Amino acid sequence: MINIENLHKSFDKNEVLKGIDLSVDAGEVVVVIGPSGSGKSTFLRCLNLLEQPTEGTLLFEGNDLLAKENDIDKLRQKMGMVFQNFNLFPHKTVLENITISPIKVKGQSAEEANKKAHELLDLVGLTDKDDSYPASLSGGQQQRVAIARALAMDPDVMLFDEPTSALDPEMVGEVLSVMKTLAEGGMTMIVVSHEMGFAKEVADRVIFMDDGIVQEEGLPEEIFDHPKNERTQSFLKKVL
Ligand code: ADP
Ligand code: MG
Repeated sequence: MINIENLHKSFDKNEVLKGIDLSVDAGEVVVVIGPSGSGKSTFLRCLNLLEQPTEGTLLFEGNDLLAKENDIDKLRQKMGMVFQNFNLFPHKTVLENITISPIKVKGQSAEEANKKAHELLDLVGLTDKDDSYPASLSGGQQQRVAIARALAMDPDVMLFDEPTSALDPEMVGEVLSVMKTLAEGGMTMIVVSHEMGFAKEVADRVIFMDDGIVQEEGLPEEIFDHPKNERTQSFLKKVL
């Protein structure tokens, strides 16, 4: 589904991504770990072209994301993104947050978008919150709305950038549990997260990134129990 080759990204003279290669199959859950500043967010942002890569090849479902002739907006709609800080529209209700893109971008009728939004609110456990405003919700609830909003566009892959790191500890579980449900439903997911328990339980593959490259990748038990790379070992010592 996703094929990344030799991905580079520089900000002026600062080379943040130094040649990333990664393939992700449909239905696969890949968890990306690594120290702060190692380029994990930049990597996800390059994947859906929130940042323009400096060099490399990005194939999504066989389409070259960097080819000028491809309809990038169309391709990008197929990638849902969930950020650390939810990024909900504060002056819109939960229902409006979820339906705005399907209506404006996809041209769905309000009726169709509302129906789908209610199904998604059921899925994330917020059935009664359709008329609420984001500020009246807890962080965990807001993040679940953000997940529903991304799903409303019917994406083929979901990208998560540290979706639980802005949450109070007691709310982490409810968000991870929604993500686990999605994974079990067959969603292709790339998740930047330091939730090692989630990675162990849900990931098909764990990627350790440091210094702008993939230093090591493998099954969760390989990475967590028998890391080969010295940097992986020292990172895991600090976080586990
Ligand atoms: P991580 O998510 O692993 O913590 P980031 O991808 O956020 O790492 O950042 C990696 C490096 O890229 C950092 O040194 C950061 O300062 C730099 N960087 C990220 N975004 C920008 C930007 N828009 N402009 C300039 N530098 C940036
Ligand atoms: Mg980051």
